[in-house]
Order: sequence, then C-alpha cells, then structure tokens
Amino acid sequence: MPEGHTIHRLALDYAHRFQGTAPQATSPQGKFSDAADLLTDAELTRTEAHGKHLFLLFRDTDWVHIHLGLFGKVALGDTPAPPPTDTVRLRLTNETSYADLRGPTTCALITPTEKQAIHDRLGPDPLRTDADPATAYARVRRSRTTIAALLMDQKVIAGVGNVYRAEVLFRHRIDPYRPGRDITPSEWDAIWTDLVELMHEGVRDNRIDTVRPEHTPEAMGRPPRVDDHGGEVYVYRRAAMPCHICAGEIRTADLAARNLFWCPTCQRR
Ligand SMILES: [Zn+2]
Repeated sequence: MPEGHTIHRLALDYAHRFQGTAPQATSPQGKFSDAADLLTDAELTRTEAHGKHLFLLFRDTDWVHIHLGLFGKVALGDTPAPPPTDTVRLRLTNETSYADLRGPTTCALITPTEKQAIHDRLGPDPLRTDADPATAYARVRRSRTTIAALLMDQKVIAGVGNVYRAEVLFRHRIDPYRPGRDITPSEWDAIWTDLVELMHEGVRDNRIDTVRPEHTPEAMGRPPRVDDHGGEVYVYRRAAMPCHICAGEIRTADLAARNLFWCPTCQRR
C-alpha cells in the first residue's frame, strides 16, 4: 500500500503534466467510460491529496476521486502513449503527456459535497498545510489503543503507513505498544513535526529515508541497505538485523494487520 507521500507526489505529477489543459479522458477497461465521457474537453484545474486519497478537479465542480488501495498504480510519461491495454481504468492524454491508472480500489466522479464527506472522515495529514495536529492528538490522548495502531488509523492521522509509523516511533524512542493515552503532548509534537519533515522529503525524493546524518552508510562505514523499498531506515523490514544505535536485534510482530518493526532496547516503555 503506497504511503501518503506517494499520493501527494502523484497529485504534483498530475498537476505538472495536465493542469491548465483539457486532456482527453478515456477508460480502455470500460469501467469508467461514462464518467470519462463527461470529462471530454474539460480543463483539469486542480489536484489535491489527503492521506491516501487523490483528487483531480475538472472544470470547477467535477472531482475524480482515486484511491489506489493495495494494487493500484499510475504510470505517467511523455507522449506518444503506449497502446492502451484493457487494464487501464482511466487514461488522460494531452499533447505532451499521458497518465494511465490501473487497478485502483476507487476511481469515481464525485461532487464537492461528496468530496467534503471524505475529508471529514480523515484525520489531519502531515503533508497538508491545513492540517491541525491537535485534532489528531485529541483522539490519541483518549485512546487505550497502541500508538503503533493509532498511527495507522486514517481517521486519526491520514497518510502515515507502515514504514513511517515504525521509523518515527524509533526516532523518538517510543515503544510501539504504549497506549495513546500515555503519549505526552511534547511527544506528540515531536512525532508530528518529524512526520511533516520526513514525509515532505519523501515527496521530494520519491522514497523514504529516515536515518539521521550520523547513521548513513557513509557515516557508519556500513553497506547501504538492499531492499526493493529503497531508502535508509532504522527498523522497517530489518527484523533480526542489528540496530544502528545499540546493535541489538530488531524485532517484528503483527500489529493492526501489518508487520511492526522496532528495537526493544532503544524503544522502552
Ligand atoms: Zn536499538
């Protein structure tokens, strides 16, 4: 499942290639054909992301709501576009670019009211300028649920996925099993500020790096991480490997239906 930085990056990429133009919208797969017809000759005026939800605005009223889910993907490129295959739910093309959306959980034409209802269900997103961390903390501080599960709950905070939750808890030496109500205001401030910074870097670099300068491969004289997720991290998918700080073994367990990674020495209760 892509994390929020990927969706914000897609919003920027769609804007960069299509905003201010009236791309041709088609649905080679057929499932979005009626909606695509309604978008013919419509100008793409804005793009936006909130957590893992992507929104493309056509004219001033027609929002396309996209959620990639587990398997959705977007391929963007310069024209000429490759021949369309029947797996493409939504293709946009203009003179210079194409974008193919495949396999999303959601791709729907919605009204501004329906869009607002989606925002209302989501917690604040560290990548949005209108985000209020106090809204998220109000939920965290009254919850007995673990902080690791709360960070994955899109109603509490939007856009954080499995990598950022594990890494931000490690960076602040917080035991992932601590209940939300034991997280202090200053700890929450530190988590939020760090997520804002790390996730903006993720959008910029299109990958997740979370190690501090003193823990890079160069600084530590260690080989770079080999993982198809890329990026230098402290604990994510490093089970049974030595911690970069204490050299103890990184542990893994199932939490909120996803693998959790942490260092039991560095992250004490
Ligand atoms: Zn450690």
